[in-house]
Amino acid sequence: MTLPFTIEAQAGPARHARIHTAHGDVETPAFMPVGTAGTVKAVPQDILEDLGAQVILGNTYHLYLRPGHELVRKLGGLHKFMSWDRALLTDSGGFQVFSLSELRKVKEEGVSFRSHLDGTSHLFTPERSMEIQIALGADIVMAFDECTEHPAERERARASMEMTLRWAKRSKDYFEAHKHEVPWKGRVIGRSGDRGIGKSEESVPAQPRAAAVRSSISPELPTTPALFGIVQGGMYADLRRESAERTVELDFPGYAIGGLSVGESRAKTMDMIAAVLEILPKDKPRYVMGVGYPEEIVQYAAMGVDMMDCVLPTRAARHGLLFTSEGRINIKNARYAQDQGPADPKCSCRVCSRYTRAYLRHLFVSAEPLAGVLNTVHNLAFYLDTMRSVRHAITLGDLSGILSGSVSFT
Ligand SMILES: [Zn+2]
Repeated sequence: MTLPFTIEAQAGPARHARIHTAHGDVETPAFMPVGTAGTVKAVPQDILEDLGAQVILGNTYHLYLRPGHELVRKLGGLHKFMSWDRALLTDSGGFQVFSLSELRKVKEEGVSFRSHLDGTSHLFTPERSMEIQIALGADIVMAFDECTEHPAERERARASMEMTLRWAKRSKDYFEAHKHEVPWKGRVIGRSGDRGIGKSEESVPAQPRAAAVRSSISPELPTTPALFGIVQGGMYADLRRESAERTVELDFPGYAIGGLSVGESRAKTMDMIAAVLEILPKDKPRYVMGVGYPEEIVQYAAMGVDMMDCVLPTRAARHGLLFTSEGRINIKNARYAQDQGPADPKCSCRVCSRYTRAYLRHLFVSAEPLAGVLNTVHNLAFYLDTMRSVRHAITLGDLSGILSGSVSFT
């Protein structure tokens, strides 16, 4: 089995499952913090562990440009380089190069682009993306796709989807031939990631013990990364369904839905996700890339999405925006200057247990580096706690409370 996936509980279409990676289990539905350049900005790895993050993302484009995938490979792979022995997922680099609209050119072969750092010319192809991702050595790697721009005419969306399918096949062919070149081959860390999982779940008092007992019987762990296919198709439900069907025919151990959250309405995002989820196999992980606000990720998890990632909690934190059980707050607002309460009265994270809104505001308006650290730690705690509550609700078989907002996320 390339990537064992054990469903432990279901509530309607929502699932609580475990992805068993060589670097520990990932409980789903999972929110994955984004660690662009081998770091979740402003947060040390030990704090990510304490927050209960079981998988984080690395960005292929950034790590390829700096420090370079060959250097990372030489230093033992990204897990070792950044001292993170839990699961890692890398994107294909596609999304980043497409967002460099002035600096890139898309051809059948791949995408040529200029580095945003020094202007040098580079070419990403499906094969090159696989080579880089294997060198970085994430547990889950992504097929090289074209993120269709929005808005896009139907014929343009179809042509883009067709190219993504051809690139998916090329990604898979190269990946299958080279996946054993991963830097951690033969030194799999195994179940070390479980330390954090046990700790994190203790904060949910009613968590049934059965889940913990079952998790102690682990299936055989993977010895190579797993490659996920990506569904595209723009904002056209029929193209999305066709993309899903044909990507599934290529047979990947997991599937992502890409090209969403690119400026469309939330209703449209949900329609596209719903159309694709009907097609994707239920016995494999399903990942929606680049979403979303807390209430959105709860909604998508309820629809049956297993994995999500977003820069929102980390990026917003650096701009002073905090997600709380009482809604979003802008900590730089003068009204918090004398506020002795925590950022979120219902949050038990290390920031909310220790610091006041008045202090967080002071740090932010004074441009102190600690502002970014503390705001990010709280926002990640809020997102990760939200997903923990969702998993708990699925285990209890009832998501209605969390969806209606009558049960707090944290
Ligand atoms: Zn907090």
